[in-house]
Amino acid sequence: MASMIIDAHAHCGRLDRFPPQDLPDYRSCLREGRIGGFTAISPVMEIYDRHDPDFRDSPQWQKQRAESNAYLLGLGSPDFIVYPFFFIWNDFAVEQIRPGHKGIKWHRHADEPVYNYDDPRCAAAIEEIRRRNMPVLLEEEFANTLFFINELAPGVLVIIPHLGYLNGGYESLRRRGIFEMPNIYADTALAPDADIRDYISRHGHDRIMFGSDFPFGDPESELEKVLRLDLNDEQLEAVLGGNLVKLLARSNP
Ligand SMILES: [Zn+2]
Repeated sequence: MASMIIDAHAHCGRLDRFPPQDLPDYRSCLREGRIGGFTAISPVMEIYDRHDPDFRDSPQWQKQRAESNAYLLGLGSPDFIVYPFFFIWNDFAVEQIRPGHKGIKWHRHADEPVYNYDDPRCAAAIEEIRRRNMPVLLEEEFANTLFFINELAPGVLVIIPHLGYLNGGYESLRRRGIFEMPNIYADTALAPDADIRDYISRHGHDRIMFGSDFPFGDPESELEKVLRLDLNDEQLEAVLGGNLVKLLARSNP
């Protein structure tokens, strides 16, 4: 068992209560004190209206987004580590990134409002993210994932959530050589056992991290899933927290 288990993918906020996903809600579903911290990501519904394809940004949404991102900064405590990720949207408000933010969340599904990739502020945001060496937890549809990694932000640290399940699928990304790239990491949240085993057999255990996608995944059962893979101690240490801690130590110098 790893010395410190950290969940590399959990949503956390107090505005979106459907389902409840504040820090106490997360901690109340933990047993045995095994998980000692998480990567905190604002709920999508605190950032933009995912159900409105014609969604237009507004000062009210910008204010809510800023509050949601700032909320995560004050959550850590001596008995529970919190690594806040800054959820970026179409105002590309990188000036709101604080030293406490350890990564970036970039999130969109196919039927949701689009990122303005052509906006000059987008390119400027990528350069700021690169300068800060922050990993981007990138959930986008397949074509945009490839575009982001190969053209928009080559070399930028990227974490593919769910081993690619919502980025076009594990196999599609694997066949395009995405997981071979040294700057591309992945998390296990809601990924099938077979994909995790296949990933580790091909790419090793240094760039894959345990995650739950709380509140959509249950942290304890997602942890059990990884423990059932029969990984050795060194692999477990890496996957359950070591890889994440090492990656985030390089962030926001
Ligand atoms: Zn998620």
